[in-house]
Amino acid sequence: MCLICERIEDLKNGDSPFLVKEFKHSYLVVGDHQFFQGYCQLIMKEHIEDLTDLDPIVQGEFFKEVTRSAKVIKRLFKADRINYSCLGNVVQHVHFHIFPRYKDELAKNSKKDPWVHSDQFNSFETTDAVALDIVESLRPLLS
Ligand SMILES: [Zn+2]
Repeated sequence: MCLICERIEDLKNGDSPFLVKEFKHSYLVVGDHQFFQGYCQLIMKEHIEDLTDLDPIVQGEFFKEVTRSAKVIKRLFKADRINYSCLGNVVQHVHFHIFPRYKDELAKNSKKDPWVHSDQFNSFETTDAVALDIVESLRPLLS
């Protein structure tokens, strides 16, 4: 079982403070760091390794879940830009990283992708309390 499938088992058991919203095809969860305030991940329920393996109808519905999530994250955190990252280099299970970007950081790194800061992510680890705060703010916007 892959790391994301294991995480989904935890979400299903209801013991994760990181769960924001269950969609038809995915779960929106608070990201494991907050280097970028409001960073979240949208993880596909089914173990699919590549976007091209999805049924076209599911592709469309899933993409709406991505953009709906990004829209409320952008609004809530007043982000200046959203970066979407769907790579599959570490875990081959379709998931999007939704990175809110802000003008102070963008002033120096406007053309760089958010992973340029990845060596600092561990210093901004999301605590359960921070995750719950984000969940309580985001969830009503997605109901
Ligand atoms: Zn998986």
